[in-house]
Order: sequence, then C-alpha cells, then structure tokens
Amino acid sequence: MPETVLILVVLAAAAALAVAWLRLRRARAETAALKDREVELCAALERAEQAGTAKSTFLANMSHEIRTPLNGVIGFTELLLESDLDDEQFGNVQLIADAGHAMMRLVNDILDVARIEAGQLRLMEEPTDLREKLRQCAKLHEPMARRKGLAVSTFVDDAVPETVIVDRLRLRQVILNLIGNAVKFTEEGGIDVEARVENTTQGPVLLISVIDTGIGISEEGLETIFTPFSQGDEPLARHYGGTGLGLAISSQLVGVTNGRITVHSKRGIGTNFTLRLPLVEGASAKSPTASAPPRRGRVDTTELPAAHVLIAEDNRINQQLVLAMTQSLGIDARLANNGEEAVRAVVEAREAGRPFDVVLMDMQMPGVDGLEATRRLRDLGFTASDLPIIALTANCYPEDVEACSAAGMQSHIGKPVTTVALARELARWLGPAGTSAAGEASSRGNLEARYLQRKEHILDLLRRSLHEAPDKTDWAGIAGELHKLAGVAANFGDARLGTVSRRLERCLKQAGEPDCCQAALLREWPAFEQAA
Ligand code: ADP
Repeated sequence: MPETVLILVVLAAAAALAVAWLRLRRARAETAALKDREVELCAALERAEQAGTAKSTFLANMSHEIRTPLNGVIGFTELLLESDLDDEQFGNVQLIADAGHAMMRLVNDILDVARIEAGQLRLMEEPTDLREKLRQCAKLHEPMARRKGLAVSTFVDDAVPETVIVDRLRLRQVILNLIGNAVKFTEEGGIDVEARVENTTQGPVLLISVIDTGIGISEEGLETIFTPFSQGDEPLARHYGGTGLGLAISSQLVGVTNGRITVHSKRGIGTNFTLRLPLVEGASAKSPTASAPPRRGRVDTTELPAAHVLIAEDNRINQQLVLAMTQSLGIDARLANNGEEAVRAVVEAREAGRPFDVVLMDMQMPGVDGLEATRRLRDLGFTASDLPIIALTANCYPEDVEACSAAGMQSHIGKPVTTVALARELARWLGPAGTSAAGEASSRGNLEARYLQRKEHILDLLRRSLHEAPDKTDWAGIAGELHKLAGVAANFGDARLGTVSRRLERCLKQAGEPDCCQAALLREWPAFEQAA
C-alpha cells in the first residue's frame, strides 16, 4: 500500500514536473518568439527611420536643387520688370514672376512638411512686438483684399504685453497663411485680426484670431482641414486653387510650441481660426536688430560707395543674376566658382593691394563649401571688420543662419534675392557713399525725406489731374515727374511703385491727347495709389 502511494506520489510529481517543463518550454518558445518579434520590430523601426531620414534628406536636396534655378527665374524676372517693357510684355513677365513665386512657396511648403515629419524643426525664441507683427502681416495682404473690396483690420487688446517671446518668422508664416486664406475665401465683408489674453489654470494664453465673413467650411471639411493635402470641398478647391498644405503646416508649427489652432466655421457665414500659444512676456523688442553685429554703415541703400565685392557662387544662372544686380548698383564685382577659388581670390586681391570690401558667399558649393571657405578665411587672419562675409543662400532656416555665424559670417540674405535686399545689405557693411563733388549732403535721412516729398507731390498732382479739365493739365510735366520717381523708388523699398510709375509714364506718352491722358490716368490710378 505505502509503495502504491509512493508510486502515485512519484508519478504525480513526475507529471507535475512534466507539466512545469512543458510550460517552461512554451514560455521559452514564447520568449524567443517575442525576442524575434522585438528584433523584427526594431529592424522595421530602423528601416522606417532610415526611410524617413532618406525622405527628408531627399526632399531637402530636391528643394535646394529646385530653388537654385528658380532663384534665377525670379531674380531675372525682377530685373526684367524694372526695364523698359511695353504693357503686354510687362503683363507677361509679371505672370512669370507670379508663377515663380507660387512655385517657390510650394517648394518651401513641401520642405517644411518634410522637416516637421522628420522632427528636424528648430524654433527660435525671440522678443517680438506682436502689434507691429500683426500690422505687417495684415498690410501684406491689404493690396489683394482691397482689390476684392475687403477691409483687413487689426485689434490687439491692452492686456497683450508689448513684447512676447515667439519664433517671429514662424508666427509670421502662420498668420500670413491664415489671413491669406481669409482673403482668398471671402468675397464680401472683411477680415478681422485680433489678439487677446486668456487666463487659464495652466497660465496665461495668447489668443490670435483671424475672422472672416467668407464662404465658410462645411462640417465634413472641418474634420480634415488640418490634414496635409486636404482641401475640404473638391469643386471649391479646384475653383480657388492651392495645395492643402498651409493649414497642416501651420497647425504642426503651432503644435511644436505647445500651442494649437482651433477653427469655427459656418457655410455662408464665415470662419474663425484661433491660434493659442502659451504667453511668455519678453523684455523689450523695440529694436529687432539690437543684437546685430557692429556695422560700418547704415542699414540702408540709396547710394553705395565704390566697392570691390567677391561673389562666391557655383550656379551659373545665379552668378549672372548677382553680377547683374551688383552692376546695376554700380558695384565692381568678381566671381569665384567655389569656396577654394573664393579663398584664393581674397588672398590674391589683398596681395595685389586691392582687397575685397565684402564677400557674398553661397553656402552650398562643390568641394570647399561656403562655411568651410569662411572658416579658412578667418583662420588666415581676415577679420570680420576687414572683410564682412554675407551668406547669400537658399538655406534660410535658423540652424543655417547659426551655422553661417558660427563659421564667421556676419550676415545672411535668403534667396531669391532682390536688388533692393542686396543693396540694403551691402549698404550695411559698406556704409553710405561719400559726399558728392558738389558737396551735397547725401545723408540717408535727407535723401529719404526728399524722396517722400517727391512721392507726396506726385500723388497730389495725379489726384488733382483726375478731376481737373484734361486740357488744363501739364501731362508732359507729369510724365517727367513719374520718370524721376520711377528711377529712384526701388532704392527706397518702393520697387512696385517704381514699376507702376514707369508704366503710367509710358501710357501718358503713348496717349498723347489730353483726354486720352486722363483716361490712361483713370485706368492706372488704382494700381498707382495701391503701390504708393
Ligand atoms: P490651400 O489654401 O492651399 O488649399 P490650406 O491648408 O491653407 O491649403 O487650406 C485647406 C483648405 O481649407 C482650403 O482649400 C479651404 O477649403 C479651407 N479653408 C482654409 N481657410 C479657409 C477660410 N478662411 N474660409 C474657407 N475655407 C477655408
């Protein structure tokens, strides 16, 4: 009997052991399977990350490759617009310019999406005068709004601090997109841009709303509105155009700063987009250039002194473009095809006793790039005050600007460059022209005041001529005044006014008869008033 019990106990123990062993084997097999799965998942994740990085690198490279020739198209178009064109030619070139700008926006949007997806977006924290920023954004869209008979108004509540900490460029990008959409999708009424503060349990929040009285968005549209490439209503999207990227980018940009965008809309009534950002008050942003490096001259254009400038640029179209722009500014410029040539040219120019005053340096060049060339020049002892180096590049993100200054550059101009932007930047480093032979005081302030006086005088003259009897008006005199204005407007940041003045001058000359002159003025007046 005890043996039977013993056998049973042994058998039970053996069975228990067998079960435990089987469980252990299963657990081991499961652990091994889990391990395999983990390895598989890790490999898949790595592949996905590599694919993501490859995609954003590809997009960044593509974007650079597309932007470079596009800069040429936009830049040369700008030069062409400033030349003597007849009306039809002017209209055609203007269409090329508009198409070029639209394409540039698209390329930049795609690059933004890639950067955000790859988590490569870096934001700056900058003290910013919000009132001024909103005013500037509204002003940029005013011409289009006015053409549609819409008013754009801004209101900032007193509770909003004078200075807030935000990434200025990105805030501008979001607000411009929201106002741009509001203008685009509104046919009657107006657009209000408002900023106020809301106190929440998490602290104060800055609210910026863009409210329109436009076509509104359907309920289904609202569900996908922040999804990339989504445009809500298909037929409407075809009617209004666009890519469906703006809001997706805006909401992701705002998301990176722990903010969000909300939308309320009703078809046929209007839309209210509200941007919510954690409110951080800044010290003072009175002067956005307060931290800029010491300058030799003023931040302005008018007349540039005779100067010797080196352009380091590998792309042939851009070489010709920047050369043409410097020539139009009366600057003596030389080309270098890459960083190595640039360093050599700078050294040789110094040895020859005719050193360069400024280098305009492309960042991305074959062989020695702009950053490396700058480092080499600084190592060779060319200091920032001997030789300011200005990056002239399509790479305009905060990290690019930082890389340029870390390499020893003093400033940065984003492509596509315009003659005005180039002149203004060169004036910063070269200083204003010396006094002329006649001893005329040519300070920027005086010139600017005189320019503004001339502009006011012409505006006044034209306003009166709109209503006066045509044969009592000195049309030839007006054409002469317009000719003078057209010649200088671009130097004071009024390039568009220059173009319109030139066109009006031509129209008046072609019209001949007083009646026809007044008719031409009536036709061109809205464009002139808008540009002024
Ligand atoms: P895009 O304007 O290039 O199509 P967005 O991402 O900026 O891209 O906008 C996506 C869509 O959202 C638009 O196509 C439009 O249907 C809708 N939308 C955006 N803003 C407004 C607005 N203020 N009023 C009406 N619809 C709007």
